Amino acid sequence: MKEIVSPLLEWYQENKRSLPWRQDKNPYHVWISEIMLQQTRIEAVKGYYQRFMNALPTIADLSRVNDETLLKLWEGLGYYNRAHNLKKAAIKIMKDYQGIFPEKYEDILSLPGIGKYTAGAISSICFHAKEVAIDGNVMRVYARLQNKDLNVTDEKEKQKVAEILKKILPENSGDFNEGIMELGETICLPNAMPRCSICPLSNLCLAHRHHTELEIPRKIVKKEKQQEKMTVFLMVCDGKIAIHKRTNGVLKGLWEFPNIEGYIAKKDFPLYISHIIDIRTATTNTHVFTHKVWKMKGYIVRVSQMDQHYLWKSLEEIDENYAIPTAFGPFLNYLRESQK
Ligand code: SF4
Repeated sequence: MKEIVSPLLEWYQENKRSLPWRQDKNPYHVWISEIMLQQTRIEAVKGYYQRFMNALPTIADLSRVNDETLLKLWEGLGYYNRAHNLKKAAIKIMKDYQGIFPEKYEDILSLPGIGKYTAGAISSICFHAKEVAIDGNVMRVYARLQNKDLNVTDEKEKQKVAEILKKILPENSGDFNEGIMELGETICLPNAMPRCSICPLSNLCLAHRHHTELEIPRKIVKKEKQQEKMTVFLMVCDGKIAIHKRTNGVLKGLWEFPNIEGYIAKKDFPLYISHIIDIRTATTNTHVFTHKVWKMKGYIVRVSQMDQHYLWKSLEEIDENYAIPTAFGPFLNYLRESQK
């Protein structure tokens, strides 16, 4: 494995993508980008990252931001708990580290929402710590280089790979970590054919030598996700729309359109909503979470009186001040279109 270090570093220097958070080695920038990148593609993150940094350019700003603004900035990225953890971590940095991002791996790892991968990435990229950052890309590249049929999601396997890579880390550990991740993202691709003909490590890669690069790593058969049906009420009264905060389950504490579990017939709507003028079928959405899938059916329900259990806001007010999770995004778009 030691032999991969120098061709990998050379390749990375020549081929690294120019990304906004790579302009400096500021740990705040690297931290925010790493959390955003956990479930979202690089291209999509660029816009969110810029907007976030414009609004909250420093750790102090993040520690003081009100929750509504924070969630609005996070809107569309999903996994809202990550946004809450960012703020908690910023408050801890202000309190325990005088507002300066800690340098030690263990201190970084102790911050809310930061796991081994992120702590390894920040400490190596920003502080040249001899730490590795093992994500799915790194596991795939390693498995192919070694032609090993690894379960790349297994924590014990990750730990073993971490120990092996730690032994070969060069001084510029951050470049090594970013290089191997970048190779996994752009050359040693998942599912699709890896681009071995332009890979800087092809003459060292055992999977390439044995023509097994498409079989390695083993595909993990995912458990069927639990499906939940949901009826979404897009209640409209005098140009205002009803929203409320979700009180339980996933997305708890976030704004949403009122809804109930299961599909119901229009004739049963009065059991849930008073003063109905008319009901129109709107749109549907399927939203996939890590462990479950929401199958959502939305209806525009015009009412003659505003139920005071809800907050009634215009679309402009919702757009400006309330973060509506992506799961409800298509219904918001539908309302926008229908009001044109
Ligand atoms: S040679 Fe192919 S399989 Fe091996 S690391 Fe490079 S891209 Fe991946």
